[in-house]
Amino acid sequence: MALAVYAGSFDPLTNGHMAIIRSGLRLAERLVVAIGAQSDKKPLFTAKERQGLIMAALKSLPPPDRKRVEVITFSGLLAAKAQALKADFLLRGLRGGADLEYELQMAAVNRSLAPNLPTVFLPAEEGSRFISSSMLRQLAALGGNVAAFAPANVAQALAAKYAALKS
Ligand code: ADP
Repeated sequence: MALAVYAGSFDPLTNGHMAIIRSGLRLAERLVVAIGAQSDKKPLFTAKERQGLIMAALKSLPPPDRKRVEVITFSGLLAAKAQALKADFLLRGLRGGADLEYELQMAAVNRSLAPNLPTVFLPAEEGSRFISSSMLRQLAALGGNVAAFAPANVAQALAAKYAALKS
């Protein structure tokens, strides 16, 4: 019964994240999506909002898969949280060279903090390599439609968030 923890900012969830979640469910029986609640940068969506968006988007998964995913928020050290959850491995996505150095560094730090907690990298799918939360935020801030890059509920929430910020 392998348990994977997929941690990130998810500000907000994208189709790229969803692809990693779907693939992660083929590697582990249980997957915990862990939203980092503390960050150097001020997030657009609160941790609770990000959690709600992910939980709603997961309704698109077949029910047996949906039951195997949990969405939590956490603060503090990911390695400590994952160990407390008795995780078998950390899951991360790799879009390309730009992600690589940072991801290798994070994996090494987590491995030194928690030697039994390897990081498993999954490559981004061809069609979602260029998708990032920051790209979605920039596009939505300019009034662009992000429907091709994010689940429908996230696209709606982004449009509503920027409409509210402008009013
Ligand atoms: P963080 O701030 O921790 O990097 P993100 O929400 O940006 O959080 O990303 C979480 C994880 O998902 C990271 O491993 C990142 O590389 C991966 N990821 C982000 N976008 C994509 C994508 N389009 N395809 C595959 N993996 C992705």
